[in-house]
Amino acid sequence: MFFILLGAPGAGKGTQADIIVKEMSLPHVASGDLFRHALKNGTELGKQAESYMKGGKLVPDEITIKMILERIAQPDCKNGCVFDGFPRTIEQAKALDAALEKQGKSIEEAIYIEVPSEVLLDRLTGRWVCRTCQSPYHQKNSPPRKEGVCDKCSGELYQRADDTEVTIKERLKVYFAQTMPLLDYYEKKDRLFKVNGNQHIDSVGKDIVKFLKGLKQKK
Ligand code: ADP
Ligand code: ADP
Ligand code: ZN
Repeated sequence: MFFILLGAPGAGKGTQADIIVKEMSLPHVASGDLFRHALKNGTELGKQAESYMKGGKLVPDEITIKMILERIAQPDCKNGCVFDGFPRTIEQAKALDAALEKQGKSIEEAIYIEVPSEVLLDRLTGRWVCRTCQSPYHQKNSPPRKEGVCDKCSGELYQRADDTEVTIKERLKVYFAQTMPLLDYYEKKDRLFKVNGNQHIDSVGKDIVKFLKGLKQKK
């Protein structure tokens, strides 16, 4: 089963991915994490993506689609995965559909985490991420037990270079222009589940798990 997490930067996709991954026993495929990993390792992909990421722009579709299709060709994605941050354009969504269709597969559901745009800036400027396992924290909303240290793996927490006010504003603009149309795209296919992301992290998770349990029962 292939799931997609949709939502603005800061909506809580990375936070909720953890819950879906556990509930469905599927790998987490986060395009932003893949790009940051490539950047850190100084690979060709990292070099290609760097300037776009710094400016809060989308990495071109061609590069992004190639990276994701290579990732899901890995054996761990044989039975599906949870996409987080991909697709972000209609072009990407179409390429993903076409690639899955070739294998007789399709998207099970796009889970849209709906959050009013006013709360996003605070969520992103207060975000801390684990260098090792990429788990997100928030200085007020979801602090780690020990400051600067990941609860799950004891890794070091850091603030992303693009979680600054100027870049966040650009990322939100890009989201509204290029990614919002995907809501319609999946709604028309009757593959869109909306969850209220403006409630406590645990409540969002509970709503998602309830939905997934219902889905499993139908299978
Ligand atoms: P995304 O992957 O969609 O960009 P994250 O999961 O990284 O979003 O969450 C962004 C920030 O908001 C993180 O600091 C996270 O701890 C915090 N956060 C996530 N969900 C909630 C929520 N329901 N309420 C308050 N803060 C949240
Ligand atoms: P957020 O958690 O704030 O939603 P991500 O970690 O998903 O951010 O993405 C960080 C950056 O990586 C984006 O601003 C963009 O430059 C690049 N990126 C990630 N996913 C995609 C994608 N599907 N298409 C194009 N660029 C992407
Ligand atoms: Zn960690």
